[in-house]
Amino acid sequence: MNKKSNILLIYTGGTIGMIRDFETGALKNFNFKDLLKHIPELKLLDCNISTRSFEKPIDSSNMNPKYWIDIASIIEDNYTMFDGFVILHGSDTMSYTASALSFMLENLSKPVIFTGSQLPIGDLRTDAKENLITSIQIAALKENGFSSITEVGLYFEYKLYRANRTTKINAEHFEAFASLNYPALVQSGVHLKVNKNALLPVNRRKKLKVHKKMESNILLVKMFPGLDETTINHLFNYPQIKGLVLESYGSGNLTNEPWFLSALKKIIARDIPVINVTQCSGGSVSMGKYETSLELKKLGVISAKDATTEAALAKLMYLLGEKLTSNSFKTIFETSLRGEMH
Ligand code: ASP
Repeated sequence: MNKKSNILLIYTGGTIGMIRDFETGALKNFNFKDLLKHIPELKLLDCNISTRSFEKPIDSSNMNPKYWIDIASIIEDNYTMFDGFVILHGSDTMSYTASALSFMLENLSKPVIFTGSQLPIGDLRTDAKENLITSIQIAALKENGFSSITEVGLYFEYKLYRANRTTKINAEHFEAFASLNYPALVQSGVHLKVNKNALLPVNRRKKLKVHKKMESNILLVKMFPGLDETTINHLFNYPQIKGLVLESYGSGNLTNEPWFLSALKKIIARDIPVINVTQCSGGSVSMGKYETSLELKKLGVISAKDATTEAALAKLMYLLGEKLTSNSFKTIFETSLRGEMH
C-alpha cells in the first residue's frame, strides 16, 4: 500500500495569491496564510501539506535567475523530506522559471509541479482552486510506492505538461498554456489519466544534482523584416554577451544577405554560441531545408530543434554556467537533456 505523500507547497507570488485593492482596482500580493484560508478543501486531500513562501511574494514579471536559485535551493534542502513539490507562480513567466528549473534539477525522481491561475483565489469564478488541488494530487500520485511523475511539470486547466515544452499563449483564457510539440503528461477528467509513454525515464539510483550557475548575459533577438545592419551590429557587439538566441522564421530561416552572414560569422568567431529557435509556436528548426538556412549550418549555428524559446534560453544559461568546451557545446546543446527537444 502507498503511504500518505508529503507535499511541499512553495508560494512565490502571482495572481493566484493576489487580492484586489478596492481603491485602485489593481491586483496586489497578500499573505500566503490567507491563501490557505480560502481553500479549506486542502484539508480533505489524502496527503500531508507543508508550506513555504517567498518572504516578499512577487509578480512573476519581476522573476529573475536569483529567484530560480531560491526555488531550487528550497527543493534541494527539503528533497529527502517530501515526496513532491508544488510551486505557485505567476503565469506570465512561469514557462521560463519552470524550464530553467528543469535544467537546474538533474536526476529528479520526484515531481516538481508549477501552477498558478488567471483569476485570484478569492474570485467567485476562480480557476485557482482546481489548478492548485489537482497539482497537489498529481504531485502526490504514486505507483508501487514511487512517485508517478519524476520531472518538472506545469499544470493548468486540466492538463499537466512537461514544463520545458510549454509557453504562455493566452492572457485571458483559463487555458493559458500550450505545449505544441509534446503531448500532455496527465489529463484531468473524472480520473487523472497518466500518459505513461510520454514520461521521462527515471534512474532512482542517481542522486539529485542541483545546478545553480545560470549565465544571464545572453541576448534574445527576434528577427523581423526591417531589422537592419546597424541594429544587428550594435546588438552582436554588446561586449558582455556570452550567448545569443535568434528567433528565426519558420523552419529556422534567417536572411542570407551578406551583411547578416558576416555579422554572424564575426560573433561565432568570438566563441559565442548562437542558437537558432523558431518563432513559430509549433514545429522545428531544420537548417539546410531552404537556401536561407543552409549557410547558417555551415557557419556553426546551433539548432534548438523543436524546443520553445523559453527552453532554449534556459538551456543556454544552464550550459554556459557549466563551462563546457566550445567543441562539445554544440553537440550537448543539440542533445535532449530533460526531454526539451526531439
Ligand atoms: N502578472 C501575474 C504574474 O505573472 C499574472 C499571473 O499570475 O497569472 O505574476
